[in-house]
Amino acid sequence: MTKKMLKTVVAALAVALPVSLCACSVVVDGTDVTDYTGMQYTTYDFFNTNTTVSCYLPAEDTDKLKSLWDGEIRDALDKISSLLSQDGEKSDVKAFNRAQAGATLKIDAVTYEVLSLAKQAYADTDGAFNPALALSVDLWGFSTRFNEADYSPSQPYDREDYKTQLPDEEYVEAFLSLSDFSETEIYAEDDGYYITKSASVAEVGGVVYTQQLDLSGIGKGYAADVVAEILRKNGFVFGYVDIGASSMSLMKNARKEAGTELGKWTVSVLSPTESGKYYFKAYVKDASLATSGNYQQYYEIGDRRYSHIIDPHTGEPYISDVLTASVFGENAALCDAYSTALCVLGSEKAIALDSELQGYTYTVAVETDQGFKVLSNADGKLV
Ligand code: AMP
Ligand code: MG
Repeated sequence: MTKKMLKTVVAALAVALPVSLCACSVVVDGTDVTDYTGMQYTTYDFFNTNTTVSCYLPAEDTDKLKSLWDGEIRDALDKISSLLSQDGEKSDVKAFNRAQAGATLKIDAVTYEVLSLAKQAYADTDGAFNPALALSVDLWGFSTRFNEADYSPSQPYDREDYKTQLPDEEYVEAFLSLSDFSETEIYAEDDGYYITKSASVAEVGGVVYTQQLDLSGIGKGYAADVVAEILRKNGFVFGYVDIGASSMSLMKNARKEAGTELGKWTVSVLSPTESGKYYFKAYVKDASLATSGNYQQYYEIGDRRYSHIIDPHTGEPYISDVLTASVFGENAALCDAYSTALCVLGSEKAIALDSELQGYTYTVAVETDQGFKVLSNADGKLV
């Protein structure tokens, strides 16, 4: 693993050299890793970003790992990203978004699982995490079609230049009225999984709109969980999965790093205000991590920043004192969803959420007159 690979947009894992060159054996959580190979990794291009899957392993297992990379792991990433994408042919999200108000559709078990986790995150965060904001995300210029090289305005609400022209208030209100995620029902039957779309409709300029879903705020975390589980099930428990530097599933570290105990990784999270600098470090193993913030995808009009995270109360890009939030815990999908929600909620509500997010620790960078301060529910465990 080169240093370049470890420099990530949001967070970086620092891998240190073994501290000892003696012939002593190194045992991590009962496994002798003395003869493990150096870090082996591969990368994929899914979810419009880079996924890195890295492992330390016994040399004789190298072929087994490679066949997982090229087989089960690639297939899983392909399937998850296809089902959840806005426009893929096999996308359940696309089928839902195109369906009529009130329609019931059969969905894949994967989509059902992601939606179940999304429902949990929606409940846990008092609705701040809300995948039914897809139309608002699109209105403000943050859905995937805006990343296409050949993007051109195609919807009635598109502006010539969405980075300098604000949308009509009529659309903000109409799309907000379609974002009640409690109106979206998911259920399991003997023959499979189903979703029933909200019956609400909204009309603007003679065009009728229905509820749409956007699972980008949770899909990468879900995929990190699935890939880590495939690795573990096949005996690979040293390494990590990193999707877009914002969602990670960390297993164990086979190398001793300075400043922390054997088995743990050092995770450095990038500062939201100073490019290339880190604002805190955490030491973790067998845990997931996600980071969200207003400094990754945004544009500015006047003195206001418009970022890709939408506030479900206003239907507009969020305004709060949280510049960035990082969440650590067991489930990477929930870490992903919670980190998005903590930005929307703002520091006071974010810290108050401690009792809801049992077992999850988080750190938020809060804007002040003199830069930012760091708040956490972690009680010094991580920072
Ligand atoms: P993340 O980068 O994980 O924070 O997720 C942000 C992405 O999730 C955005 O680019 C949108 O596609 C979508 N999104 C925006 N606002 C919300 C929200 N309040 N709840 C859930 N997903 C959202
Ligand atoms: Mg997220």
